[in-house]
Amino acid sequence: MGNKDDETHAHRASATEIIHLGRDPFAHHGFVNTPVYRGSTVLYPTLESLEAKSQPYTYGRRGTPTVRALQDALTQIAGGADTKLTASGYQAVTTALLAFVETGDHILISDTVYEPTRQFCDYLLKRIGVETQYYDPLIGAGIATLIRPNTRLVYVESPGSQTFEMQDIPAIAEAAHKKNVWVLADNTWASPLYCQPLALGADVVIEAGTKYLVGHADALLGFITSNARAAKHIERAAGTLGVCPGSEETFLGLRGLRTLDVRLVRHQETGLRLAEWLRARPEIARVLHPALPTDPGHALWKRDCKGATGLFSVILKPVPKPALAAFLNGLTLFGMGYSWGGYESLVIPFDCTPYRTATRWQPEGQALRFHAGLENVDDLIADLDAGFARLHAAS
Ligand SMILES: *Cc1c(COP(=O)(O)O)cnc(C)c1O
Repeated sequence: MGNKDDETHAHRASATEIIHLGRDPFAHHGFVNTPVYRGSTVLYPTLESLEAKSQPYTYGRRGTPTVRALQDALTQIAGGADTKLTASGYQAVTTALLAFVETGDHILISDTVYEPTRQFCDYLLKRIGVETQYYDPLIGAGIATLIRPNTRLVYVESPGSQTFEMQDIPAIAEAAHKKNVWVLADNTWASPLYCQPLALGADVVIEAGTKYLVGHADALLGFITSNARAAKHIERAAGTLGVCPGSEETFLGLRGLRTLDVRLVRHQETGLRLAEWLRARPEIARVLHPALPTDPGHALWKRDCKGATGLFSVILKPVPKPALAAFLNGLTLFGMGYSWGGYESLVIPFDCTPYRTATRWQPEGQALRFHAGLENVDDLIADLDAGFARLHAAS
């Protein structure tokens, strides 16, 4: 169970902790893992117990021992008061936003937010009369100037999707809380092990467990961890919306948790090796990776994060399209696909121009997002090296 007061615990969950949280073998005949509970109907033994509503489990949608095990573990790791699992990371985003807004509200969303989050604001929240204003992720304490009497929440994502700008969450949270505005943070990049937004001042943390928690590209899962003040809003909204994770997916989240620490160490190491190798290449204009000392967000990353994961971007110097295709199409170890956080390396071209409105996206050439998987880094470098040879041959 998480702490029930509003204090947050700024600590990095240790490798030891994540092995033992959310697990009680002797409650399951000594079997090491919490089993998958499947079920909709939960029986009440007596009329009295039915009327008292005092059972720990009452209905499948409202939670099972498997769900609770993972929720409790994630609450402890994030230093929160409660966690709700969701069917996907995106459902965690939409549930958390709906928990706080009502018609007539104004909300502030970072311009570098995960793109589908924008769609939710621009389509669905707009339809219910909530006004979204996008702000420059580098605004820091300046967010105060954008807060209106009807501003309900500030949404941060640090580093930002695709372009990895670090945000000053403590400065933003301080300004927001002075005006009684909620702070929601999408922490998917760092995962609960490498950043603790609640300790930095956020009220609610949103995570796509699909990425590093599950870690094997075989399940969708999300979670929302909140402080005590925010938890009741999340609980109410998630319950009302009927948000619940799948049983198997929850089990895969619990299983992923056990190896999260070791996997992240490798993702980080390989990501940094690749980023540094790419930075030294003549074909690259810029590398966007907050753990590189030359990155504009490095000081904030160092202050706020305990590590870096394997996702970063680069901007190529201009090349003709066939050269880009020759580079990408011939890669044997890097797959092209949108989700990430699994064991395999990935690369995807992107262009933020259509979905940046408060800032201007002006890359020097084609932007590519890389995910460093768990392969041998020298093999990955050789694959990229051969790719650049093809790129030159096709230029
Ligand atoms: C992937 C992602 C999500 C959504 O997660 P899904 O499980 O794919 O729905 C949300 N936020 C960020 C930052 C992401 O990268």
